[in-house]
Amino acid sequence: MVSSLLPDPVYIPRVHVGMDLLRKYNVPVPRYTSYPPANHFSDDIAALRPADLIANDNRPGCGPISIYVHLPFCQSRCWFCGCTNLITTRQSAADDYLDDLEEEIALTAPLMDPVRRVTQFHLGGGTPTFLSKAQLQRLGRIFKSAFPFAPEAEIAVEIDPRHLDAGQVEALREMGARRASLGVQDTDPAVQAAIHRVQPPAMNERAVTLLRNAGFTSINVDLIYGLPKQTVSTFARTIDDVLGLGPDRLSVFSYAHVPGLKPAQRIFDQQGNLPGIDEKLRMQILARERLPASGYVEIGMDHYARPNDELAVAARESGLHRNFQGYSTRAGASIYGFGISAISTTPDGYRQNHKSLATYRMALLKGELPVARGWRLTEEDRRRQVIIMRLMCEHRLDFAALSRELNVDVAGVYAGELASLADLEADGIVVRTGTGIEITDTGLPFVRMVAARFDAYRTRGAVCHARAV
Ligand code: SF4
Repeated sequence: MVSSLLPDPVYIPRVHVGMDLLRKYNVPVPRYTSYPPANHFSDDIAALRPADLIANDNRPGCGPISIYVHLPFCQSRCWFCGCTNLITTRQSAADDYLDDLEEEIALTAPLMDPVRRVTQFHLGGGTPTFLSKAQLQRLGRIFKSAFPFAPEAEIAVEIDPRHLDAGQVEALREMGARRASLGVQDTDPAVQAAIHRVQPPAMNERAVTLLRNAGFTSINVDLIYGLPKQTVSTFARTIDDVLGLGPDRLSVFSYAHVPGLKPAQRIFDQQGNLPGIDEKLRMQILARERLPASGYVEIGMDHYARPNDELAVAARESGLHRNFQGYSTRAGASIYGFGISAISTTPDGYRQNHKSLATYRMALLKGELPVARGWRLTEEDRRRQVIIMRLMCEHRLDFAALSRELNVDVAGVYAGELASLADLEADGIVVRTGTGIEITDTGLPFVRMVAARFDAYRTRGAVCHARAV
């Protein structure tokens, strides 16, 4: 792209969130894609009773089904990656895995109400486009023959632009996919070499052209800030490059450095090329300035969308929801995750599959649901879940409305939590309104800090690795 040929400008962001606030609140807090967060799940499967969690989901008036399929294979390892993946170039590994998914469906589907419609189908990874055209076609047949899909089902796929051809796009369109999310991360050649993911901008342009020509109506681009060799200036060029692709949505994530959990990240410590915290915070500020200035609406933590995108519309109309895939417009759906590490969410709780392929496969061979851990929600968990998700999606609490919904006096029962917001109020992150509390525009990057004050498990020793910024 032309912008990558320009001389390196010294970019000085117009600071609208004080660096002192960003530094002060840059402490580990969960991302709240669930409550309790997944690091609090228990491995006591006998107490969890996974089959009951599914059977109890078939209640009168229960909502639609959202399916997530984890496709873990990648042809090479990106050194920053925090996902559950398996590195291989053996294409037949995906055939064996499709056999596994058939086994898992055979154990799960009979426990489910057969008339409930699938309204969302999401392929994530790993790399879904590791699968060949024929393998993707088989994947579509497996799920569509096992579950009734609604005609308007939203079918979305995560795409690695380095591994995408016209045949795969054709298979995805046959499946009904209209939404794609492209992993770009950064377009700077030095950063790409440092993270072991070489992906020239021309590959991104080719992928977008293939997808648009095939009729994909929504394209998201994922970026990460805080990677090795990144500076505010290189990240500014990356943002310019991806804006040139005309995405409908952008996700801008903070790099999570957890070498204890992800050994490949140790190489960054050995090379000593990670940006300092101030540089990283300036990149976050840059994204929060550049993207709105380019016509995108900040949806919530890390996400941006065009104003007419359904995510932006849902945010304006209080219709936003949060799940393990991030923000969603579909309310009330039970989530059924298939494949290694996939998490399922039903009204009574969460269950997560084994992360190791061998253990996952062993459970299937024994004819058992391949669940490694999970959580049964208590009534108190459910109330806090609603409060935390309301803060994450709507950025405010209306005490009277919430009290009616939760059947408790919210201002009284959670008086201690509300009092604990005093420092956030003093820093202009939260304000008291006549009817409740509201997170300010300045406070938006700290929404997780506010939510964390209502997390009853925060003080009980669960280790959290994600920083607020
Ligand atoms: S970033 Fe994506 S392609 Fe790279 S290793 Fe992780 S899952 Fe695989």
